[in-house]
Amino acid sequence: MSDRIRIRVIIRGAVQGVGFRPFVFRLATRLGLTGYVVNSMEGVIIEAEGTKHRLDDFLICIRTERPPKASIQSCEYSLLDPAGFSNFEIRESVGRGKGRALVLPDIATCADCLAEVFDPANRRYLYPFTNCTNCGPRFTIIERLPYDRANTTMRVFTMCEDCRSEYDDPADRRFHAQPNACPQCGPHVEAWLANGQTVASGTEAIRFVTETLKRGQIVAVKGIGGFQLMVDAMNEAAVLRLRRLKHREQKPFALMAPFVRVVQTLCLLDPLEERVLTATEAPIVLLTRRKDAALAASIAPSNPYLGVMLPYSPLHHILLRETGGPVVATSGNQADEPIAIDEQDACRRLGAIADVFLVHDRRIQRHADDSIVRIILGREQVLRRARGYAPLPVFVNRRAGVTLAVGGHLKNTVALAMDSNVFISQHIGDLETHEANTSFTRVIDDLQTLYGTVPEVIGCDMHPDYRSSIHAVSMASRRAIPLFRAQHHWAHLLACMAENNIDAPALGVVWDGTGFGVDGTVWGGEFLLAMDIGFRRAAHFRYFPLPGGDAAIKRPRQTMLGVLYELLGSQAFTDEDPQLVRQMLDKRIRSPKTSSVGRLFDAVACLVGLSNQVSFEGQAAMALEFAADRSVTESYPYGIRPGMPLVVDWEPIIRGVMGDLGMRVPTETIAAKFHNTLVEIIVAVAERIGQRRIVLTGGCFQNRYLTERAVQRLVQQGFACYWNQRVPPNDGGIALGQIIAADLAFQQEHSCVLQFQAK
Ligand code: ZN
Ligand code: ZN
Ligand code: FE
Repeated sequence: MSDRIRIRVIIRGAVQGVGFRPFVFRLATRLGLTGYVVNSMEGVIIEAEGTKHRLDDFLICIRTERPPKASIQSCEYSLLDPAGFSNFEIRESVGRGKGRALVLPDIATCADCLAEVFDPANRRYLYPFTNCTNCGPRFTIIERLPYDRANTTMRVFTMCEDCRSEYDDPADRRFHAQPNACPQCGPHVEAWLANGQTVASGTEAIRFVTETLKRGQIVAVKGIGGFQLMVDAMNEAAVLRLRRLKHREQKPFALMAPFVRVVQTLCLLDPLEERVLTATEAPIVLLTRRKDAALAASIAPSNPYLGVMLPYSPLHHILLRETGGPVVATSGNQADEPIAIDEQDACRRLGAIADVFLVHDRRIQRHADDSIVRIILGREQVLRRARGYAPLPVFVNRRAGVTLAVGGHLKNTVALAMDSNVFISQHIGDLETHEANTSFTRVIDDLQTLYGTVPEVIGCDMHPDYRSSIHAVSMASRRAIPLFRAQHHWAHLLACMAENNIDAPALGVVWDGTGFGVDGTVWGGEFLLAMDIGFRRAAHFRYFPLPGGDAAIKRPRQTMLGVLYELLGSQAFTDEDPQLVRQMLDKRIRSPKTSSVGRLFDAVACLVGLSNQVSFEGQAAMALEFAADRSVTESYPYGIRPGMPLVVDWEPIIRGVMGDLGMRVPTETIAAKFHNTLVEIIVAVAERIGQRRIVLTGGCFQNRYLTERAVQRLVQQGFACYWNQRVPPNDGGIALGQIIAADLAFQQEHSCVLQFQAK
């Protein structure tokens, strides 16, 4: 295989008419890359081919060597198969689409603004709402298009003379900077107690909050896309108190650190990771934690990674510099509800958690959580797409009219597609609470209003009881428009194929927790062969009963009993096991059959004793991943039963694990052998199916060890491998897949998809 790959980069910002294309041409030529650069309605699009190493250099140099007048507000890229360019060229601009105005995401504070904020002689010294054309809030303040001040939540502030002259001066950095403001005329911060009483304002408020943090108390900070809860990251008692009050027992907390050099004391940081950390999107980056990181133990218990971000607004910069060290910065919500965006709501919902509130009078129009990104196999992978990315479109080839996809149930996002642009919404969350459901319908309405359009086609999951599906059904019937239900794992697969720019056929290895199968069983260990208009279930894991159904997600022991029951019948139980679970299994009530690999992870984690208490979905599986000793190369036996589809038999694996447990083989070895076996299963099934392109997607591929090892082995065997980059492998990505599925169905004149799947 050639070691050349293609990169597709889309850059938005002040990059047109400032000598940007000649700059890209010179840079690409210097690095020996082939491809092209072109201006389009969506921004500057670059495709370049070369070695991975040269492309990494290219990405870093685009930012560091850009022409002085160019400013990059967003830079998203994907690595794709080579297209075989022979030289590098500047192509004619293309006028694709109808010239739709793009809504930009919120952009982290630029270096120029930052310098002003910390310059005592500047009129914006320590002003938390400083911004310019190159930075500041966008998505979270826009009420409607076009993007003018009168259409943002800044309309209530009248610019002072100084600000006005900056705004009107084409030569000024703040020319038409819609959120332009200064201490004379703009928004202000206040520190409140939970009862709404003001205790300090302006710079004093930030100082008051800093003192509160230093005392180990909890602060709720109104940021860009909603409230965050903050606490001193070195203070164990304070972190524990936050966990208790927020009802978040063990799920890792993200951190915010004032400078890159502080991050370096906490985590290992390679150049690509540093690039993401300091990018305009300013996401939370998952980094390998240093053994000597000085942090409270309960920030991310027994987790080798830390989620870290840098300050992305002047308010955060000032607060973090005053505080000096890293702080926990987690979503301002209870458990998994959507984040609070206004102060009244925050005081009501977070009043029992936060001691002090740092609020301001710039209204947040819509929520945007902090995004989460990691580098895996040398590429970016977005695990949560929100602030900094939403609502930037993903480009796909599609033909249907305006399409809405409502996503899944957990980690919900929705998507609206127009022409070749798919606008994926910000992360909404699990549709489990009233707040989440309200947020879900609000985001759907919001996308339509923002882009001034109504869907002509709707896509949803096949699960009849998902809140999202129910909403889609009623919307479709109310508007008398076609509705397409895409099978959950097929949607995962289509999303990953679309963003990797590959067409059918391809074999999808789609492993996750649960998804509704076309036969009414619970799927989750799937090998789906994508074809031109549908898919074939090429193989799946052997079924086992899941006592309690979805309730088993937080009860790995229940899942383990289901697995053991399949093998041993009633011998699976001990006296301690609840009668109820036994009855469910014996009488086959509320025990759906599942092929879920996610649940199999839970069962094995429980067998080896790694999951006595689970407080969030996937925790047991994560414990198993973190336990795995990467130097172990052995694996367990497994079976592949012939047929259509093939059935992967996990029985020999479970017997192998039990045998090892009996011989007191270390947990680290068992965990590694389990992972290695799954990788061998992927290779074996791929070889039987005989499809060269393998797509790895679904929540299980958030597992770094599994993903890295699977790609390594598949490539070794001559397969081409694809995984998620711009959209999450988890259910946050399936709205995109539903858009593609609806399009395929639409192209087949509304007829094929369901019939085909039912076979
Ligand atoms: Zn700026
Ligand atoms: Zn002003
Ligand atoms: Fe899923």
